[in-house]
Amino acid sequence: MEALNRSDIESFDRNMAEARCITAVVHTHPDGDAIGSGTALLGYLSAHGKDAVLILPDRYPAALEFLIGGEMEKRVIVAEDSMAEAERRLRSSDLIICLDFNSFSRAGDLEECLSSVQSGKILIDHHLNPDRKCFSLCFTETETSSTAELLYHILMEMPDIRHDAGRLPAITATALMTGMTTDTNNFANSVFPTTLAMASSLLGAGVDRDFILDNIFNSYKESRIRLMGYLLDRCLHITDDGVAYMILEKNAISKFGIQDGDTEGFVNIPLAIGRVRMSIFLKQDKDRFRVSVRSKKGTSANLCAAEFFNGGGHELASGGKLMIPDDVADAAEAAAYIERVTRIFFNR
Ligand code: 5GP
Ligand code: MN
Repeated sequence: MEALNRSDIESFDRNMAEARCITAVVHTHPDGDAIGSGTALLGYLSAHGKDAVLILPDRYPAALEFLIGGEMEKRVIVAEDSMAEAERRLRSSDLIICLDFNSFSRAGDLEECLSSVQSGKILIDHHLNPDRKCFSLCFTETETSSTAELLYHILMEMPDIRHDAGRLPAITATALMTGMTTDTNNFANSVFPTTLAMASSLLGAGVDRDFILDNIFNSYKESRIRLMGYLLDRCLHITDDGVAYMILEKNAISKFGIQDGDTEGFVNIPLAIGRVRMSIFLKQDKDRFRVSVRSKKGTSANLCAAEFFNGGGHELASGGKLMIPDDVADAAEAAAYIERVTRIFFNR
């Protein structure tokens, strides 16, 4: 990643020092990086005596509860459950820090409120195409594993931390390691020299990686593994262009008792097949499918998600949505849609 700009760092430090009431916000369906960077910043700000709150547009997966429990829980607002409280909080904040998303549209129903409030707004993010005009200060870097890693490098520059991870609050160090670990899929992708340096100093500072791994990878319900078997056996299709896709419909979600987060990582599995160039996973959710797209080097998941699935993200890992009935007349047509648009995508 590029070296951080000194005057940006100074203005970040000054903005935090001058603000009393600071609110961090992350994207909808928050993942390990969103919750990791959000709680890391919350821990840091709280240790500095700030009135700090983290707003999540909607609920977080059970696997990440270990970062939000205890004292932290009182400082987290789930907007889906308490929209009025979330909006009141945003309107009374001196400073808003947006983490792990590149435009307010990724904050779901908070979009309008975020756009209209007049406080200072800072972006810390690693996605393509950041909406810079909406922020008074931007830290954006795509050549980094995660927002957690970017936040780590920023915090290392703070005058009280002075490049010593041992000076970070313990919850901040654990949360940063968690965000990086989930976004790299446990060091399988987007690992840079700076990522390993970060992991090394956090381990040196006493972060318990085994505890983190147990929570994020070894605490699932049995139903997740059984659903995985069902999907791979019954629902995996591979097109002639090497596009693997699986569609998880409403009836299977209720049959297996699946909740948010239980299907995390499923989209990656078909990439293990040699001839697969891109993997698409659809999960039905009310009037839409939520879409995950992953690709191997040389194929842009981001372009495919942006053109055909109302989304975007990273070059090799993106997401979006497929609307019913705007994009497909009904759920049963989703497979034909994927076949059709990926044929266009790979053959022009
Ligand atoms: P996932 O497949 O894990 O839900 O998302 C993968 C990546 O795509 C993440 O970086 C996420 O931020 C991005 N992403 C997921 N859904 C959307 C969406 O609806 N719109 C955009 N622009 N990006 C998305
Ligand atoms: Mn991320």
